[in-house]
Amino acid sequence: MVNYIFNQSKKYEMIKINCNLCDSKEYRVLRDNLKGKFIAVKCKNCGLEYINPIPFSVKEEAEDFYNELEYNLSFFNSLEKWEKLTLEEFSRQVNILKKIGLNKEKGIKRKFLDIGCGIGLYVKASQELGWEAVGLELDKKSTEYAINKWRLDIRRSLLEKANFKSETFDYIKVRYVFEHLPYPGRFLDQVSKILKKGGFIQIDVPNQNGLINRLKMFFGLKKTNEWGCLDPPFHLHAYTPKILKSFLEKSGLKIEYIKTTTPGDPTFRPTLPDKSIKGFFYKISFYLLRIFLQNTGMGSIIAVFAQK
Ligand SMILES: [Zn+2]
Repeated sequence: MVNYIFNQSKKYEMIKINCNLCDSKEYRVLRDNLKGKFIAVKCKNCGLEYINPIPFSVKEEAEDFYNELEYNLSFFNSLEKWEKLTLEEFSRQVNILKKIGLNKEKGIKRKFLDIGCGIGLYVKASQELGWEAVGLELDKKSTEYAINKWRLDIRRSLLEKANFKSETFDYIKVRYVFEHLPYPGRFLDQVSKILKKGGFIQIDVPNQNGLINRLKMFFGLKKTNEWGCLDPPFHLHAYTPKILKSFLEKSGLKIEYIKTTTPGDPTFRPTLPDKSIKGFFYKISFYLLRIFLQNTGMGSIIAVFAQK
């Protein structure tokens, strides 16, 4: 939920990796010299696009990589509106989960985990709907804010160090986190382990097949900075719906719901009303564009619910 500013002064090592999806060492270079030093590659075996070598913090701890990031303070100017939007969004998502198999038994307290929870808006929303909720966040200021303002259970920790017991959660949200991970395969194995049998993971990531990405790559725009969604040192892996499905299946998770969408979608990416978009014609045009992108799989975001 929070936009971060990367602290460029942090040191990291460059580590050569195999493909996270199929373990192949074979790749072809898509573009080198991204931001002067990073290389975008594509696995010759499975087609995963990733940064190789990957930047990895010297202490091998992402806390170190992320702990000096700063808030986008403008976000807080509309905090109450965001609280309301998030509660509506979360309610819509839970309704989808109920349709695709969330345990509907009454009288049980469901458990929710938000990995990369920012200031904890989803944690707060889930509590308001009667869930027991935990958030993980690496950013110190966000964590402190959430604890001080709302007394939420937010822990400043990586997933692998949080020591959750196996089969703890009914629903785990991984929103705009998966693209940042150096080892997404291992991460999903850990998520799968702490999900209850029948529980759901939700992943929201940028879509490498998105129309804007395709146009950018086709015309070679931003050639020295990004390759579609690959935006080092932040975004290290790029996903298409097909690649994401393979990752989930490899960790024993089955996709029950998938769509590509765009900012402005009230179920997956609500935005505050844009006052600069005036007039009926423009509003309708944006709406139709969104419907077109959703139906062609070319929305800029992939949203997935997968079940254990
Ligand atoms: Zn591969």
